[in-house]
Amino acid sequence: MNQPKKCMGCGVTLQDENILLEGYTTSMENDICARCFKMKNYGQYQVITKSNDEFIEILKDINNTKDLVLYIIDLLNIDKDITEMRKYIDNKTILVLNKRDVLPKSINNNKLIEYFKDTGFECEDIIVVSPNKNYNIDTLMARIKKYKTSRNVYVVGNTNVGKSTLINKLIKNYSENDNELTISPLPSTTLNQISIKLSDDLTLIDTPGLVDHGNIVNYVEPDFLKKINPKKEIKPKTYQVKTNQSLIIEDLVRVDYTEGGRNSFTIYASNELKINRLLNGAKHDDLKDLCKKTIEVGYYEDLVITGLGFIRITEKATVDVYTRKEVDVYTRKSVI
Ligand code: GDP
Repeated sequence: MNQPKKCMGCGVTLQDENILLEGYTTSMENDICARCFKMKNYGQYQVITKSNDEFIEILKDINNTKDLVLYIIDLLNIDKDITEMRKYIDNKTILVLNKRDVLPKSINNNKLIEYFKDTGFECEDIIVVSPNKNYNIDTLMARIKKYKTSRNVYVVGNTNVGKSTLINKLIKNYSENDNELTISPLPSTTLNQISIKLSDDLTLIDTPGLVDHGNIVNYVEPDFLKKINPKKEIKPKTYQVKTNQSLIIEDLVRVDYTEGGRNSFTIYASNELKINRLLNGAKHDDLKDLCKKTIEVGYYEDLVITGLGFIRITEKATVDVYTRKEVDVYTRKSVI
């Protein structure tokens, strides 16, 4: 009988199906997983969690330490309820709003920060950054130094929010000696944490990100992920819509405007995604075989399609959203 192939680097079972899960490799011909490959070849690494329960165990562990926490949030994919975290940890926390470069420059950072203040999440500070553009990384470092309670600082957040990219940036900018960088990786412990000593008085501890099963990236081909994760500033696309019209994003989502007056829908998603408008939606059945979710949208709310982005809708509306049933679709007060 064929034994499942194991990674020669860390011993996990290799798989080529889900980029977000442990053991992912681009081809089953490879001997090591993508994570070990990155670490070996670029000095980059990634940690991945297996389940929600494991994530909660990690948070409880962090809670026992009272060390400073950096809670990383992807500005394009903000968690439905960020205050959830506070059920498990009351550590001092800096909210790090990541991937600033993907949202239009015209959006005021204070507006973003206000949105997070309004959630009631208690934290020491909220800071907007972009490791890709080296934006505000120095300020982040200064805040870390200001608020840390010991030499250890934990980094938490969902998978794909950009934790490894941010940590790699901090390593690049601040590690005192590249050669002696201590990265203690790999799933030798159940909690799978990685500590990175940046200097004698600062060690970052990266924790496995939670895989958000409501995120559309779990259900697309790895190649398509590149299209979904925007690399450049998003150019929002605005459509003046009337009922009976539909917007279709690739073959992933269909939004039918079913009730309401004249309205304006602005899509914030990767520029590379194809968007189609149907002026008479009733005449076309495209994507109607997907799961239908009927959603009431309030005045100036965002309709969030987790993992893909969001649609800002200016007036009250009822929409039918067709997408895979696992994908989380919900509304929130407009973030911009
Ligand atoms: P992790 O799973 O939280 O460690 O996330 P990664 O660091 O692997 O990043 C997930 C995706 O977000 C990758 O496609 C990154 O290239 C992308 N990403 C990370 N940081 C940034 C950023 O500052 N700007 C943009 N546009 N993309 C980023």
